[in-house]
Amino acid sequence: MIQPGDREYDSSRVVWNAMADRHPTLIARCTRVVDVVTAVRFAREHDLVIAVRGGGHSVAGFSTCDGGVVIDLSGMRAVEIDPAKRIARVQGGALLEQLDRAAHEYGLACPVGVVGHTGVAGLTLGGGMGRLQPKHGFTIDNLLSVELVTADGTVRHVSNEEDPDLFWGLRGAGANFGIATTFDLRLHPIGPNVTTATVVFPSERAREAAALYRELFRSAPDHMHLGLSFGPAAGGRSTTPGQRAAGTVAVGSTHVGDQQDAERDLRPLRGHVDPALETLTPTTYLALQKMSDEEMAWGKRFYMKGAFLDELTDAAVDRAAEQGSIAPDGCSISLWAQGGATWQVAEHATAFTGRAAAYWLGAEAFWTDRERDGEYIAWGRATMAALKPFTRAGNYVNDVVEQGDDVVRAIYGDKKYERLRTLKCTHDPDNAFRMNQNVRP
Ligand SMILES: Cc1cc2nc3c(=O)[nH]c(=O)nc-3n(C[C@H](O)[C@H](O)[C@H](O)COP(=O)(O)OP(=O)(O)OC[C@H]3O[C@@H](n4cnc5c(N)ncnc54)[C@H](O)[C@@H]3O)c2cc1C
Repeated sequence: MIQPGDREYDSSRVVWNAMADRHPTLIARCTRVVDVVTAVRFAREHDLVIAVRGGGHSVAGFSTCDGGVVIDLSGMRAVEIDPAKRIARVQGGALLEQLDRAAHEYGLACPVGVVGHTGVAGLTLGGGMGRLQPKHGFTIDNLLSVELVTADGTVRHVSNEEDPDLFWGLRGAGANFGIATTFDLRLHPIGPNVTTATVVFPSERAREAAALYRELFRSAPDHMHLGLSFGPAAGGRSTTPGQRAAGTVAVGSTHVGDQQDAERDLRPLRGHVDPALETLTPTTYLALQKMSDEEMAWGKRFYMKGAFLDELTDAAVDRAAEQGSIAPDGCSISLWAQGGATWQVAEHATAFTGRAAAYWLGAEAFWTDRERDGEYIAWGRATMAALKPFTRAGNYVNDVVEQGDDVVRAIYGDKKYERLRTLKCTHDPDNAFRMNQNVRP
């Protein structure tokens, strides 16, 4: 138990997004399932707000609160691998790097996100996108079961066999229904060697880059993850009125298939006339999974807006290139192609909404100076407003910073939202778990 005045209080209340600077009354650092049960019962008896902390990466700052209890699972990070069954048993406070490292020892991996210090729990309960998704789906597509402490303080085992309805809700809206203390996740043989390639153009050539990206999406095998990103050129935006702002657009891929084929498969990203940059990097899957850890380090301020797109038209590319070019340093617009294994699961099969789209898009802003909050948030909002006409309904819950019933309904769409409300009424009628994109009972 950590309280205000304790030596560890300030370091323990910090979460990844520096925008969420809150002061809980109590931080309950759990090391066993029974601690989680006790913390839930205590908070409920004393009518205290509950925030649940896995990896602390919530972009909206949901894993902390003012004046309530943070149920902190950072003392529960064990990962056990069953190499014969290819299953990982992961505790609710584990980070991706712990799962990645443990599985890698056996030449295995679970599809998770791309930054090592992200929590497995929040990522999985929201969906889980990453480099392996075209080949093996989202994290939820590899989720076998969850041990869950529910609002009444009981411990339940939830899977497709035991409680298909709740398991449906856990896969995309999971933070609403309890505290996950263990996840069983399916693993796949990956690596150890993988290859990445990137080609970067000035944003004047954005349409050419997008054409290459679309062609790769049409023809590339599922062991290639495909990204397209827009941002300001190094050195920042142009300040001369009338002068075209300088931005860049990058097409990138991670190849996790047979490495003998990597050079051949990645050839479309090579040999372009006069690119700003071209790279081909053999590496290991584990190194790649940690490659962005420093850039995405704790302590920065962060804002984002996400969306799904059915197609990538030239008009959308023009808007993205413009917004990338005028962005303050630390901002970018990224697209990830979906398809592959993510399309093998039906849209209605899980609460997650948006897998049927061709592309996920995120406009992300990082900065450090509190006084520039307005500028960066305004860029994020203006960027999504500019791209809105090209997006489809639905949102990835883990991207959404704004809150409110309408926001949550828009994430899932009316039909799924109503089903989630029914589930919420059954499993958490008093809304004990509300520090999340909240489905109100
Ligand atoms: C730098 C960075 C990189 C990212 N990269 C990716 C990516 O590649 N792919 C992707 O899909 N997403 C990515 N995300 C989004 C990420 O998936 C979400 O922010 C996710 O919620 C983080 O989980 P966490 O456990 O670290 O977060 P926390 O802040 O601890 O929790 C997030 C939410 O989940 C709830 N929660 C946490 N633990 C539990 C638990 N054990 N049981 C029940 N509820 C719990 C919390 O109450 C909160 O509502 C990234 C985010 C950041 C900041």
